[in-house]
Amino acid sequence: MAKKRLVLTFPPSLVNTPVTYHLVKDYDLVVNILRARVTPEEEGKLVIDLEGEKDKLEKGVKYLSELGVHIQPLARDVTWNEENCTHCTACITICPTEALSVDKDTRKVSFDKEKCIACELCIPACPYQAMVILI
Ligand code: SF4
Ligand code: SF4
Repeated sequence: MAKKRLVLTFPPSLVNTPVTYHLVKDYDLVVNILRARVTPEEEGKLVIDLEGEKDKLEKGVKYLSELGVHIQPLARDVTWNEENCTHCTACITICPTEALSVDKDTRKVSFDKEKCIACELCIPACPYQAMVILI
């Protein structure tokens, strides 16, 4: 058995395509959706674990790629070190899923782990090393 953790980005035209159904039915894969999000641009983002026989796993990934899904392997996770955060808001517009957001009234930044797809865009954007990659 083989396993891959992937970030899938669906263009708007594919957001309603039942890809996980096909991965299960046509490629005999176990699909575990870790996070799912439709971004403000209406792109779909999924973080999934795919598990199955090696050749079927490769074929399933090829099916996604040929369909037009952008596939990014995910070996690492991202978290927020609140103690280092100065609430400067430099990360807010960078984050594609609004996992990092700012309260309009208090101007405090917060991190919603459920929305984070571990794209790592916030890592270089944060001047205070408050966003951390977990290996
Ligand atoms: S890694 Fe950073 S930029 Fe990417 S979704 Fe998570 S919090 Fe947002
Ligand atoms: S860029 Fe870093 S320090 Fe600034 S608000 Fe975001 S996480 Fe906090």
